[in-house]
Amino acid sequence: MNNKIPVLAEVNHKIDTLAKMNNEINALAKHLPEVRLMEVCGGHTNTIMTYGIRGMLPKNIKLVSGPGCPVCVTSQKDIDSVIELAMQGEKITTYWDMLKVPGTKMSLEQARENGADIKAISTAGQALKYPDSIFFAIGFETTTPMTAYLLKKNITIYPTHKTMMPAMRALVQGELKIDGFIDPGHVSTITGSRIWEELDVPQVISGFKPEQVLRAIHLLLDMIYKKETRVINDYDEAVRKEGNQKAKAMIKETMKQTDSEWRGLGVIKGSGLEPREDRLNAKVKYKDLLETVISTETPGCMCGQVLKGMIEPEDCPLFSKICTPQDPKGACMVSRTEGACAIAYRYK
Ligand code: SF4
Repeated sequence: MNNKIPVLAEVNHKIDTLAKMNNEINALAKHLPEVRLMEVCGGHTNTIMTYGIRGMLPKNIKLVSGPGCPVCVTSQKDIDSVIELAMQGEKITTYWDMLKVPGTKMSLEQARENGADIKAISTAGQALKYPDSIFFAIGFETTTPMTAYLLKKNITIYPTHKTMMPAMRALVQGELKIDGFIDPGHVSTITGSRIWEELDVPQVISGFKPEQVLRAIHLLLDMIYKKETRVINDYDEAVRKEGNQKAKAMIKETMKQTDSEWRGLGVIKGSGLEPREDRLNAKVKYKDLLETVISTETPGCMCGQVLKGMIEPEDCPLFSKICTPQDPKGACMVSRTEGACAIAYRYK
């Protein structure tokens, strides 16, 4: 019984804090026109949906999700290419989530059921157990250092690593007017906060607790009200100005910048990372075979629109009717922690 009292007090305190922050946001929003803020990290999307933050905000403050889910932004062509390698007898290691992403003809999971040698792993480090397999390397700056480490250990990879800045630059220049970004917290631990200063738009680097996300929204609205465009690092317990120098050096040593294809956003110049050594790059080693791969998007799937913040997952006609986490028709319905459609399904 005694144990319950502090827990209850803590919960009440948290509710009071969130309510107070929400009141401050409402007061500020009265002085603003319609404002569109984008979060570009699947972790923030998860917090926003879990705590119903979108629904708490005044009508003129719109929160849209961006391309922050690594599973979602990996292009159909890359998914199909890895499936083709597996079907041609190459051994593959991949993160669990990637198994279920529908390719043009099948998923990696179905390829495995058809006899392909595909090992699912939870962390990149586990790929070291399978040195004769090709590691399907996905993700942003947060996961790239581990892939860089694998390259130092001579593991061959199929590279789809992406960097967030070029995508955010493309979004700022795109058709959707974005008034401010909640910058990606985990990515910023590697890149540092300075990198975002290039974008001429209000930004807040935030942690992932609901009160941190609400505070980020409040700080963004305050900047918009004052017509300021700067980067506020409100996650300084984890993010330094210069980022993680050791991780950045290891990436630079093993990988080079390339163009990369993003689902929904197309090819973005300079947004990819591939091995410096061609012998460790499956895209180079199997170039002839991969050129024969033909990809098409899943009919009806609007994942690309979701990733650009143009529509909400619920606007897709397939959402929850024929596309569900149990039977995903698109990549955004796969990752339960970062996929916008999967998270929206959970909290619909
Ligand atoms: Fe694609 Fe499914 Fe999302 Fe629709 S609900 S956009 S089909 S992933």
